[in-house]
Amino acid sequence: MTTIFSKIVKGEIPSHKIAEDEDYLAFLDINPLARGHTLVIPKKEVDYIFDMDDNLLAGMQVFSKRVAKAIERVIPCKRIGIAVLGLEVPHAHIHLIPINRLEDINFGRPKLRLGEDELAEIAANIRQVMEQ
Ligand code: 5GP
Repeated sequence: MTTIFSKIVKGEIPSHKIAEDEDYLAFLDINPLARGHTLVIPKKEVDYIFDMDDNLLAGMQVFSKRVAKAIERVIPCKRIGIAVLGLEVPHAHIHLIPINRLEDINFGRPKLRLGEDELAEIAANIRQVMEQ
């Protein structure tokens, strides 16, 4: 079954893209815990992150590092927290979340309600830093 994230990869449903290469895509989470909350996925459909091929998994971490470095230049924060849950979407993904305190990465907390314009602006700003 095609996952919602594969549909994003194919451009069948919209997303606010941050970065992409042959193997990976980063885009803003639609229900963010913080401004700049980003998901990094492998383009290849794999449900469970620990079922990923070793090299693909290692490469995703390196790709995530580049994205995290760009996010932290745009969104003021102490650091970028990373989390892997995968309880909702069966397509491996890493959450990159700007955090200042423990509660900022509490997935049980209400999500932010950001408008399309604000998401687009955040994504554009991070993309701009990625391209530097
Ligand atoms: P998890 O599978 O890690 O428990 O959660 C999946 C994450 O994907 C959630 O944070 C949710 O907001 C995000 N998400 C689910 N569907 C979409 C979508 O269609 N677009 C985007 N950008 N994010 C999504």
